[in-house]
Amino acid sequence: MTEFQAAVLPAVGRALEIRTIRIDALQPGDVLVRIMASGLCHTDLEVIEGSLAYPMPIVLGHEGAGVVEAIGAGVEGLKAGDHVVASWNPHCGHCFYCERDQPILCEPFTYHQPRGHLLDGASRLTCENTTVHHFSVVSSHAQYAVLPQSGAIRVPAEIPFDRACLIGCGVMTGVGAATRVAPVLPGSTVAVIGCGAVGLNAIQGARLAGAGTVIGIDKSQSRREIGATFGADSTIGETGEDVVSLVKEATGGRGADYVFEAAGSEAGFRLGAEITRPGGNLVFLGKVNVSQDVAFRWGALMGEKKIVRSSYGGARPRRDFPWLARCYLEGKLKLDELITARLPLAKINDGFAAMRRGEGIRTVILPWG
Ligand SMILES: [Zn+2]
Ligand SMILES: [Zn+2]
Repeated sequence: MTEFQAAVLPAVGRALEIRTIRIDALQPGDVLVRIMASGLCHTDLEVIEGSLAYPMPIVLGHEGAGVVEAIGAGVEGLKAGDHVVASWNPHCGHCFYCERDQPILCEPFTYHQPRGHLLDGASRLTCENTTVHHFSVVSSHAQYAVLPQSGAIRVPAEIPFDRACLIGCGVMTGVGAATRVAPVLPGSTVAVIGCGAVGLNAIQGARLAGAGTVIGIDKSQSRREIGATFGADSTIGETGEDVVSLVKEATGGRGADYVFEAAGSEAGFRLGAEITRPGGNLVFLGKVNVSQDVAFRWGALMGEKKIVRSSYGGARPRRDFPWLARCYLEGKLKLDELITARLPLAKINDGFAAMRRGEGIRTVILPWG
């Protein structure tokens, strides 16, 4: 039995409450992780604000890193003391979609994840004898988490936890979109709409892939400046600027070879279609409320454009998380610069308040800090 502190969301629109959570016995395949760092992601905020529906009460957090404390029966390849990053897409490896190499659609995952359960259909978390739900099979805004073994990915111990946790969502999503989903070919032109955490990672992913020219697009001047430090050759998007014309001017009048939409707005989706060249690739990373319609100018979708939606950068966590960690350790990937605040668990609501105001890039919670 383990008792620990966690940030619990009791209901939509409420503040998170620091409560004592209990985990009883580990089940076969479980990995108990002492969480050392957990990033605040917009997807958490969508649950708080109700645009993503999940059962309550729930412990949010899906971008976590920590140390394996204990393993359940049958867990292979992990032992106490290993450093791990949580994957929010654990997958069974043998369902219809896993067999077709589409683990993001894994059937046990897509069934149990929205129900707030682990992949066996149960929760391990209780608070004063009430069941508490898991978020995306992670729940890392807490001092401990129970992960299925396919969601606990060992990484080199040299990478600090606050940097490592970012690999689990924002970095994988952005870098993976450029390097795995698109994938960007050397020398090509790339435009990234939105220079928040995911967009910045799409920019540095495009650089890792050898892009020739990268254009960062954001309304915010401070984000454009950060975009330049992550590898954008030029940054545009000031209110009043004709972004479509500027991208076309920079790309021989055609539009970009690859466009990544990471702003998560209807305007961003529409702009993405307009600035992708004929025959080019448009990757949607951002999200709007699932019940919202999005309209396009039909002509913008014509011209043999390849349009793809990516939720997790084509993640194969056991392949990609150690690779991303090594890229950081070798100086090829920026992680330090993504972290704009570190907060103890008790201040987590301040972190989400800053996110609502559009401040900063990533706030990392240090649950033992
Ligand atoms: Zn996320
Ligand atoms: Zn599966």
